[in-house]
Amino acid sequence: MDWSRNWFEGFKGVLREGVDLSPFSHMRVGGRAAVLVEPWSEEDAALFLRVCAEKGLPYHVLGGGSNVLIPDEGVDAFVFSIPQWNRVVRDGNRLVASAGATLPSLIRKAKDLALEGLETLVGIPAQVGGAVRMNAGTKEGETFDHLVSVRVADESGELREIPREDLHPKYRDGNLGKVLITTATFELKPSNRLLIQERIKEYLTYRNRSQPVTEKSLGCIFKNPPGDAAGRLIEAAGLKGAREGDIMVSEKHANYFVNLGAGTSTQVLDLIARVQETVQNEFSLHLHPEIQIWPPQ
Ligand SMILES: Cc1cc2nc3c(=O)[nH]c(=O)nc-3n(C[C@H](O)[C@H](O)[C@H](O)COP(=O)(O)OP(=O)(O)OC[C@H]3O[C@@H](n4cnc5c(N)ncnc54)[C@H](O)[C@@H]3O)c2cc1C
Repeated sequence: MDWSRNWFEGFKGVLREGVDLSPFSHMRVGGRAAVLVEPWSEEDAALFLRVCAEKGLPYHVLGGGSNVLIPDEGVDAFVFSIPQWNRVVRDGNRLVASAGATLPSLIRKAKDLALEGLETLVGIPAQVGGAVRMNAGTKEGETFDHLVSVRVADESGELREIPREDLHPKYRDGNLGKVLITTATFELKPSNRLLIQERIKEYLTYRNRSQPVTEKSLGCIFKNPPGDAAGRLIEAAGLKGAREGDIMVSEKHANYFVNLGAGTSTQVLDLIARVQETVQNEFSLHLHPEIQIWPPQ
């Protein structure tokens, strides 16, 4: 990628070249970013996006790395990283969360303030921005259920507040287009702290029992086809424990792939192809990936 620091005059954040992204991946796979971009502020991010658009420079936004597959050869692109934006502020019954705050920290804050509504999202290792972008959730509830607005930086260099009624989320897709989410506001219900704590415990117990939560994974690899569960189909096709190198279909939940140690992104892609082919042959159904597969560019 041809670029010059001079093009980003006024940018106050940090640019780091050739950063290994595997520690940022929840599965611990993937290569280097041409440049890791750590914007100082949302204005900084907007400026950077505008210049990228003007110059035709490729970029990605990285959240908690719990749903993206970063290629082994790395990405010849700018990669935004914003864990430093981690504030969660109360405004009446609302919580305004910076996009880099972790979902677990947001849920903890809501519980401490006895505000109910986010408990169903417990155990999802996302940042708030990633949770909104993916409309992360479970059968019990999803991120958009309590969202009232999101603030985004876009490629025109503008910052915009978008109310919930102007957003059209889909299943595991916030449907927000090419923006960088900077904050999200949630409307919650005053409740009892112990009651919330109890619900959190129940959801966590269920999760720990049914999913490989302590292993290196990317959560569910495939979207559930209408009326069925990808995990059920993969298990019925006899693929639990199937391996490509150090990447394995989890024995605990067949829609999770786990990295046994030295797994690679290429092995993840090979296992995806094998699972898709087997399920297609057995059940005449195509499984679509839920994970975001980044191209090397
Ligand atoms: C153990 C485990 C359990 C999981 N359980 C669930 C579950 O129950 N339900 C569920 O839905 N998912 C689950 N997941 C998947 C994952 O946590 C979610 O998809 C989550 O929303 C991804 O958030 P992230 O911050 O990690 O985003 P990343 O994986 O870093 O990125 C995901 C996408 O969001 C984009 N993105 C991230 N931040 C921003 C931002 N600020 N602005 C714009 N775009 C952004 C990225 O570009 C990418 O396209 C699980 C994953 C793991 C590892």
